[in-house]
Amino acid sequence: MINKVVYSVIVPLYNEEIVIEESYKILKKVMDCTNENYEIVFVNDGSKDKTKEKAEKICKNDEKIKLINFSRNFGHQAAITAGMDLSLGDAVVVIDADLQDPPEVILKMIEKWKEGYEVVYRKRTKREGETFFKKFTAKMYYRLLKSITSVDVPVDTGDFRLIDRKVCDALIALPEKNRYVRGLVSWVGYKQTCVEFSREERFAGETKYPLKKMIKLAFDGITSLSYKPLVIAGYFGGLAFLIGIILMGITIEKGVLNKTELMNFGMIISITLMMFGVTLGCMGIMGQYIGRIFDESKGRPIYIIDSTTNYAYERK
Ligand code: UDP
Ligand code: MG
Repeated sequence: MINKVVYSVIVPLYNEEIVIEESYKILKKVMDCTNENYEIVFVNDGSKDKTKEKAEKICKNDEKIKLINFSRNFGHQAAITAGMDLSLGDAVVVIDADLQDPPEVILKMIEKWKEGYEVVYRKRTKREGETFFKKFTAKMYYRLLKSITSVDVPVDTGDFRLIDRKVCDALIALPEKNRYVRGLVSWVGYKQTCVEFSREERFAGETKYPLKKMIKLAFDGITSLSYKPLVIAGYFGGLAFLIGIILMGITIEKGVLNKTELMNFGMIISITLMMFGVTLGCMGIMGQYIGRIFDESKGRPIYIIDSTTNYAYERK
């Protein structure tokens, strides 16, 4: 009889050839401490280096390790989603490959899970080895997100968390394409708690989150949880209209009294530019939502699997 899988550890991988072996070793050591059956699900998100070969080698020697290879790079959130879709555990842990989040914390998360919590996330008390820009923008972003959503998204948490099978199934049932998994975990609810610890430097290699991907993720977070930006865009329109009316009043009054010319060329240009800025900015915000509606309407899958290893029904 096949042993029931109690824990699934999902590890998204994008060009992680220099960290994958160390990650595997440490994760295995930690998970062996549980004395329960587990699986580690490596999701290779279209890596261009030797990540796939190295992962396959690990899988060959250890059948607890499973591998999902995407047909191309679909992004971190898609990789996490695939890991959840194919996971079997009663509890599912998501952790980055770079060991920035100490894997030992998983044991603490498991303790909390056994106490009856269905979501255990971690709060970063300190972040090491990241640029001031990244730390600052992340801090501001989490606070902005919290202030504009009605969902209680905990601040300063990444995707490193443990979720119960119930939560995992609820997430799998959500069909949206541009996923912001940590926000969706808050959205589904259930009994949630946190463990605190600091975030270390990347074990090796460099961040796979360039600014472009970070901005995309930030917009996914906001648009999937709130439509307040659209409301604010409307307010801007109202404000611009009001300023226009006031300026018109002043101009007419000055004209009637035949005093100095208020509406000189520079003034007209600057007001026009300002209004264009507001209009295009608001259109940009609308574009963020419309683009995502378009993505949903196309109904394409979140990711495409090219091959798998160590699954009962392997795809080659
Ligand atoms: N990652 C991924 N696909 C991507 C980008 C990143 O699967 O397109 C993975 C990456 O391999 C790592 C995790 O997502 O395991 C987090 O990435 P990273 O550590 O580079 O992000 P940071 O910690 O710098 O925000
Ligand atoms: Mg990292």
